Amino acid sequence: VTERVEALVIGGGPAGLMAAEALIGAGIPVLLAERMPTVGRKLLMAGKSGLNLTKAEPADAFRAAFAGHGDSLAAPLAAFGPEEVQAWAKGLGQDLFTGSTGRVFPVAMKASPLLRAWLARLTDGGLDGGLDGGPDGGLVIRTRWRWTGFEDESWGGVDNGEGHRIHKFETPDGPRRLGARVTVLAFGGASWSRLGSDGAWAAHLPGTAPFAPSNCGVTLEWSDRMADHMGAPVKAIALQAGDAVSRGEIVIARTGLEGGGLYPLIPALRQGAALRLDLFPDLTAEALSARLARRRRGESLVNRLRRSLGLEGTRRALAMEFGRPLPDDPGPLLKALPVPLTGLAPLDAAISTAGGLRFDRLDADLMLRDRPGVFAAGEMLDWDAPTGGYLLTASLATGRHAGRAAARRLSGG
Ligand SMILES: Cc1cc2nc3c(=O)[nH]c(=O)nc-3n(C[C@H](O)[C@H](O)[C@H](O)COP(=O)(O)OP(=O)(O)OC[C@H]3O[C@@H](n4cnc5c(N)ncnc54)[C@H](O)[C@@H]3O)c2cc1C
Repeated sequence: VTERVEALVIGGGPAGLMAAEALIGAGIPVLLAERMPTVGRKLLMAGKSGLNLTKAEPADAFRAAFAGHGDSLAAPLAAFGPEEVQAWAKGLGQDLFTGSTGRVFPVAMKASPLLRAWLARLTDGGLDGGLDGGPDGGLVIRTRWRWTGFEDESWGGVDNGEGHRIHKFETPDGPRRLGARVTVLAFGGASWSRLGSDGAWAAHLPGTAPFAPSNCGVTLEWSDRMADHMGAPVKAIALQAGDAVSRGEIVIARTGLEGGGLYPLIPALRQGAALRLDLFPDLTAEALSARLARRRRGESLVNRLRRSLGLEGTRRALAMEFGRPLPDDPGPLLKALPVPLTGLAPLDAAISTAGGLRFDRLDADLMLRDRPGVFAAGEMLDWDAPTGGYLLTASLATGRHAGRAAARRLSGG
């Protein structure tokens, strides 16, 4: 016997929980299935770095961060953009602050108070609709339920005649089937798989663009001379790849380079652009050359770099590593040191994933064109953005968009 529900959400990350909130807000009880023992694990991990919820900036600039996919996200973000995210978080009792770059964080600098308050509201029916919690209303969560595909694996297959799509799950009690009149899929991307999102769903959803690491480090092979600098942060530099320039911090890692300064460059690097390092972003090459020209008799180049430019420590090590042998006038080179990358960090180590379910498989409601009644939201969709609060905002916005559309479908609207 196949169990039936009206509304099913699969995946208990920000997108899935927000889809559930939208459905519950429309008076529809929701069953949420999550493969891990608890929901929101990646959200909690994002909290370890302070939980950058969104970015306070004009709508156009915000949308432009979604490299080429801003149009597909326009409607969800117009309805639930940076301002709405902030109001929502405040509604969950979170005091917020905005950093100098516009990034918005909870004062608590972590996700657990927000997630706790959110789950309490969803399961106790503390929403405006005043629904009762428990099986009769609000949200019911089933953990350790792993979705393993549609009952009818052939794409575009018909449902069972009563308007219920049948989903297959692996559960602690063995395989189970579950029918739902509307479903929101919110499986997440394909990085940090130990937190739950492993991308395995893609095998069951044709039209998924290949996953690629985003907001990640880069790999390269260091010489032994860099051994003393492992773990060292490098500040006050600029990085450049293609047309993209970044002035954030990087960190020397055994496997290559890490740090937020690289993230804005990843799309260009993925396209094969060369990475260059500018050790003196506030000085021109001419100014550097002029300073270096004032040499003392017999002075070594290394001393000259230290005396005239203050180049020491890890920054100097990088100049030698990437510039050796330095020319007599290394001014221009110090502004464009070629970094010999071997690749991007592995997918599983990336903060987010590019690729995913393509928008041309979805209608304006984020419903799968070939499976009416099944919607998709969050990082599993084929958009990409730098860190800065864009990822969470778009996950929440698409979750809400899909959840509201699913509710409309159920009510025949
Ligand atoms: C270290 C780190 C720091 C981050 N910091 C930030 C930040 O500060 N700001 C920001 O905006 N973003 C940040 N992000 C990114 C952000 O956390 C994600 O983009 C966001 O969580 C995506 O939401 P989602 O709901 O789409 O997917 P997820 O949060 O990944 O949730 C998907 C859920 O689906 C479940 N699931 C997957 N497959 C199945 C299945 N087959 N059956 C049942 N359940 C399944 C998973 O277990 C998971 O719980 C960070 C990410 C990482 C890794």
